Amino acid sequence: MAQYDYDLFTIGAGSGGVRASRVSAGYGAKVAVAEERYLGGTCVNVGCIPKKLLVYASHYGEDFDDLAGYGWTVSERRFDWAKLIENKNKEISRLNGIYRKILVDSGVTLFEGHAEVVDEHTVAIGGKRITAKYILVAVGSWPTVPEFPGSEYAITSNEAFYLPALPKRVIVVGGGYIGVEFAGIFHGLGAQTTQLYRGKLFLRGFDDDIRNTLADEMRKRGVDLRFDTDIRKIEKTGGLLSATLIDGTVLHAEQILFATGRGSKTPNLGLEKAGVQLKFNGAVVVDEYSNSSIDSIYAIGDCTDRMMLTPVAIAEGMAVANTLFNNKPTKPSYLNVPTAVFSTPNCATVGMTEAAARACGQAFDVYRTSFKPLRHTLTGRDERTMMKLIVDRSTDRVLGCHMVGADAGEIIQGMAIALNCGATKAQFDMTVGIHPSAAEEFVTMRTPVPS
Ligand SMILES: Cc1cc2nc3c(=O)[nH]c(=O)nc-3n(C[C@H](O)[C@H](O)[C@H](O)COP(=O)(O)OP(=O)(O)OC[C@H]3O[C@@H](n4cnc5c(N)ncnc54)[C@H](O)[C@@H]3O)c2cc1C
Repeated sequence: MAQYDYDLFTIGAGSGGVRASRVSAGYGAKVAVAEERYLGGTCVNVGCIPKKLLVYASHYGEDFDDLAGYGWTVSERRFDWAKLIENKNKEISRLNGIYRKILVDSGVTLFEGHAEVVDEHTVAIGGKRITAKYILVAVGSWPTVPEFPGSEYAITSNEAFYLPALPKRVIVVGGGYIGVEFAGIFHGLGAQTTQLYRGKLFLRGFDDDIRNTLADEMRKRGVDLRFDTDIRKIEKTGGLLSATLIDGTVLHAEQILFATGRGSKTPNLGLEKAGVQLKFNGAVVVDEYSNSSIDSIYAIGDCTDRMMLTPVAIAEGMAVANTLFNNKPTKPSYLNVPTAVFSTPNCATVGMTEAAARACGQAFDVYRTSFKPLRHTLTGRDERTMMKLIVDRSTDRVLGCHMVGADAGEIIQGMAIALNCGATKAQFDMTVGIHPSAAEEFVTMRTPVPS
């Protein structure tokens, strides 16, 4: 029997790696984890958590505008970017400490530094070679910026979290959820914001009613959305950036943020030398159990380019721990994974879009409502909330729920449970609503929209 230093060596103490490591240790495995940058990974340091804190900050801008209708007067209104970033950084340091404690308390050994795979059972870190029965690659992803003249002046979400000052004008490039969220953050905090996307409409893959409603809402608020366009070059004069678009238009800004994609953090990891197969984009090829092309090497999370979401990385980590150390081979489920966009206003979705239902060729009904939220009857804000259900005509099962409006993420989380239980439209209809709420609309839509 081969003897190894550890049962499991995890590379990357992010969302997936920490969960897989501590759960495996809980099952009795001897576990080590390597982290080269920050405990908690992208989500805690430059992803979900700081992003949502900045989103909260940006919503106060609107709240101040809205409060007069409720009888409030605020004499002075001033925003301090440096204070926000300082407080956000303090909270991240606290979370880093919690992640360290989670690992220590679970009996996981932490190595701080850059780890590389040497062979199917060996990892190198800090001049040491460590052996393990299994190696788990959980190295996450990194933002990418396309190369073009002046692309070196662009920043990514990584830098946006640490800008020394709030830019007066900002251009956000990219139509994914990160771009949409940062456009909302900068605009809400008072920056003049332009968002560019090379496609016809942002948030590809989301239901078209979400995409169109959000575009309308962002435009109403004053975000300058420009689709079917891209940046050809950026020039810098002093502190000012000038972006030339493909149609020759020139836009000026203090910061240009590219949120156009993320690549797996697999370069300089030794994976190819060890015989691990990678996709053309560097993502690790894995089977349904997250096993790579080498029996003893597994990979989870963003670096496998399946669904780049924290709860998915965590579910994949739990599944690997169960498969390897709990005698329960587990495939994570990707069915009805809910997701939110913390745009202004929020969007959230679970299940099938109308376009996907149409592409499947199945008979379905669409229930849709669009209304002015009760809150804005007194504020005077011209905002619409949109909710939508896709229902299978033959089984009556609800296939998809989509929403744009305040707290959409909180509401759709509950809908995801219903969809996973196979809820029918009749069961939605017999559910008593909570009144007065926006969520009650999901159980009171009675008439399908004409197809
Ligand atoms: C701006 C932004 C906002 C986001 N918002 C959301 C959201 O609202 N909801 C959501 O679900 N998801 C969100 N995500 C995505 C989410 O952050 C990721 O899907 C998640 O963090 C992936 O977890 P992971 O374990 O795969 O990788 P990570 O969390 O990135 O962890 C990988 C870790 O590995 C370390 N590492 C890499 N290489 C090595 C090496 N060779 N040696 C040692 N350590 C190494 C890295 O330093 C890192 O700490 C967001 C992402 C971004 C960028």
